[in-house]
Amino acid sequence: MGVKYSSFADVDIRAFDAVVVGCGFAGATVARELAERGGKNVLVIEKRAQIAGNMYDEFDDAGILVHRYGPHIFHTNDKRAFDYIRRFTDWRDYEHVVLADWYGTYMPVPFNKNSMEIAFGKERAAHLTDKLIATFGDERKVTINELREQDDPELSEIADFVYKNVFLYYTQKQWGLTPEEVDPSVTARVPVFISRDNRYFQDAYQGMPANGYTALFERMLDHEGIVVCLNTEAESVFDLRFFSDDEDAPLESIFIKDRRFDGPIVYTGPLDELFLSRFGRLPYRSLDFVYETHDQKHVLPCGTVNFTVTEDYTRITEFTYLTGQESDKTSIMKEYSHSYDDPKTQIPYYAILSEKNNAHYERYRLLVSPLENFYPLGRLAEYRYYNMDVIIGRALALADTLVG
Ligand SMILES: Cc1cc2nc3c(=O)[nH]c(=O)nc-3n(C[C@H](O)[C@H](O)[C@H](O)COP(=O)(O)OP(=O)(O)OC[C@H]3O[C@@H](n4cnc5c(N)ncnc54)[C@H](O)[C@@H]3O)c2cc1C
Repeated sequence: MGVKYSSFADVDIRAFDAVVVGCGFAGATVARELAERGGKNVLVIEKRAQIAGNMYDEFDDAGILVHRYGPHIFHTNDKRAFDYIRRFTDWRDYEHVVLADWYGTYMPVPFNKNSMEIAFGKERAAHLTDKLIATFGDERKVTINELREQDDPELSEIADFVYKNVFLYYTQKQWGLTPEEVDPSVTARVPVFISRDNRYFQDAYQGMPANGYTALFERMLDHEGIVVCLNTEAESVFDLRFFSDDEDAPLESIFIKDRRFDGPIVYTGPLDELFLSRFGRLPYRSLDFVYETHDQKHVLPCGTVNFTVTEDYTRITEFTYLTGQESDKTSIMKEYSHSYDDPKTQIPYYAILSEKNNAHYERYRLLVSPLENFYPLGRLAEYRYYNMDVIIGRALALADTLVG
């Protein structure tokens, strides 16, 4: 059958039981569940010209499948989320490897026994590894703060090396911070992995949709109960009614096409944008992606290389490793991180979590919390970072509640 698209102007809102805003994993999962399990008619509105949210992928001019909103690798320990997405796609087993480019030498990330040999030489690495195993046990992840707490100068030396050569500059670039501004609680979590396991993730289930994410979403949304309106922004089609004119007065109801909509409205966009940023914009980091195609099979030794001590970009990803596509050409993508200043031309990628920003978000959340049929869901609406599997899990849980 295929996805049913419609222009918003042609929609008869009386035909729908539920409205979903946004077509990433949060929106698409809820829409599918409400339609399939709940037997509901679901209207999905999406402001972009395409489905699949940040997972959107497409073939570039060289015929290479590339991700347009950041490289996405699926990994989880949540069997329900894993089984759920595999309903809509064949699966390609893939385990992501990330190397740090350390002044032109590659070392595995997270920093592990193999990285230690590259950084300190085989002999000294063997000595340091023995010490790590004696202190913490083998095959364990310890944080650089745990290393420092041991009061052993050699363990502190490992912690200092990882901090300076793997963590600091990368984090500064990613978040636009000076070294002093880097939050100690983040530093505390930087791991050293006492292992030879070079995989970036250790989750039980890992891989990629065999034909890409967009194809997966096309199957998710291919249901007789779902209609998708692209190029449609919630704020321009929702008529918000408040309890009073007070700036902090909460939402009383939402009208769509002149009718009060009482069915569930699952909203997966940013809450501040829905209210036209009346309390100011929520802070995010944004990204620029610069693509290059090369006439060779591979440019990098693995899927992603992080530039931890040099370069303005944070990392480069080479897609054919992720997708398994065979070609004589290859496409890579450099990622530049910058502040999010203009919602018209930029995309909010990473919420900048802090006490102040969380309180700022909370002020928006209080505007919607009394409205019983309104459900904020997803990385934007909840102003959090969530991996795909967590979002699918949360969307399934919400659907459980809505379907009953
Ligand atoms: C650079 C990057 C790399 C990542 N890599 C991984 C990875 O490797 N593995 C992993 O598990 N997770 C990864 N993630 C996280 C992953 O992107 C999220 O888990 C996922 O996008 C969450 O889905 P979502 O539906 O909440 O949000 P999104 O995918 O962002 O979908 C939200 C949708 O809502 C639409 N929208 C927003 N506002 C409105 C509006 N007002 N009206 C209508 N539509 C609107 C947007 O256009 C978008 O399509 C990565 C994230 C980033 C930023």
